[in-house]
Amino acid sequence: MSGVNTVIVHYHELALKGRNRDSFEQQLVGNIRLALKGLGIKQIDNLRSRIRVVLPPQADTAAVTDRLKRVCGIANFSLAHAVPLDLSHPGLDQLSAAVVEELRATSCSTFRVTARRADKRFPFNSMDVERAVGAAVCVGTGKRVSLKDPDLTVYVELLTKEAYFSVEKIPGPGGMPVGVSGTVACLISGGIDSPVAAYRMIKRGCRAAFVHFSGRPLVSRASEDKVRELVQTLTAYLYGARLYVIPFGEIQREIVLNTPAPFRVVLYRRMMVRIAEELARREGCWGLVTGDSLGQVASQTPENLSVVEEAAELPILRPLIGMDKVEIVDEARRLGTYETSIEPDQDCCKLFTPAHPSTKTRFDELRKAERALDITALVKQGLDKAERSEFTFPI
Ligand code: ATP
Ligand code: MG
Repeated sequence: MSGVNTVIVHYHELALKGRNRDSFEQQLVGNIRLALKGLGIKQIDNLRSRIRVVLPPQADTAAVTDRLKRVCGIANFSLAHAVPLDLSHPGLDQLSAAVVEELRATSCSTFRVTARRADKRFPFNSMDVERAVGAAVCVGTGKRVSLKDPDLTVYVELLTKEAYFSVEKIPGPGGMPVGVSGTVACLISGGIDSPVAAYRMIKRGCRAAFVHFSGRPLVSRASEDKVRELVQTLTAYLYGARLYVIPFGEIQREIVLNTPAPFRVVLYRRMMVRIAEELARREGCWGLVTGDSLGQVASQTPENLSVVEEAAELPILRPLIGMDKVEIVDEARRLGTYETSIEPDQDCCKLFTPAHPSTKTRFDELRKAERALDITALVKQGLDKAERSEFTFPI
């Protein structure tokens, strides 16, 4: 699109009040700045209920679009043309002329104009603007107005001294800007579910630290490479993230050697949760996040979810608990994690899997089994071997 020199960003504001609103807006402006790093953008302004990004000449609008699509808190945005408004002479000639010129270059046969004004002191209201600009386009291009089902919608935003128009609204992720909801520790496995679970929390404004348990030294690093790729994909929403990889093979061997086979699955999970909780506290996290979905596998029965829950003091957040697998897969595809997740690996959970895992583990049986383990020493062993790495976006 020629002449685009501004991006107008909209967010959902229904639930925003008072100080929440201020911190939401400040965080969103800061995150947009981080997301657009390296693209030569200097000016980002928080105007009334919208954010304006001023593009330099020759800005890479495709890159700007791509980055903004992943800024949580953005409901939608548009690449717009700025036109000065002359209030002493309340005609809309300059705006109308610019819209006519833009629409002459498009092949649509029907259109409508949708206007919003930020400044209610204008001598004309939104409908006046829609009518005036619409009439000018009809005369200037021969195109027809269709309010119900137009081929193209012209969006006009009226600010105090300028108007902006655009012919496309691009959806953002919605949700809340990352940073307004604290930090959570996401248990990430390399499977399909856990990256989607992490994303759900990120989209509600959480920063994330990631924790992965690898079957090393008993299996290869394949799962770790996948997890790194997944964390890098998610970092595009976070700008910065930390990953802890914990070699878990030896801890699993201890569990296998000392406890009854049917409890293994749940005992692995309880150990993971304990180690993750320690790391979560170091990182200032208020909750742990897993990709559990009710009833999906043996570890996710009501009874087993409950006994895993009990191993942690921090809340365990399970944003996918009520989702079907097909819904999770759809979201993973949209997010761009699916292709990585389905690559083959050697997941530590498949190590020494019992033929008949207990699906209704009772607390008393489990506590008895855990008495055979030196839990404190195993947690310490996991923490001592944890390997930390940092991720950034843009890279
Ligand atoms: P996923 O697709 O996320 O691997 P899943 O359907 O395979 O999930 P489980 O293997 O029961 O289910 O794992 C449930 C959750 O436990 C995962 O979503 C993840 O949050 C956590 N988890 C499982 N294995 C690991 C691991 N190796 N490292 C870190 N977290 C894990
Ligand atoms: Mg898994």
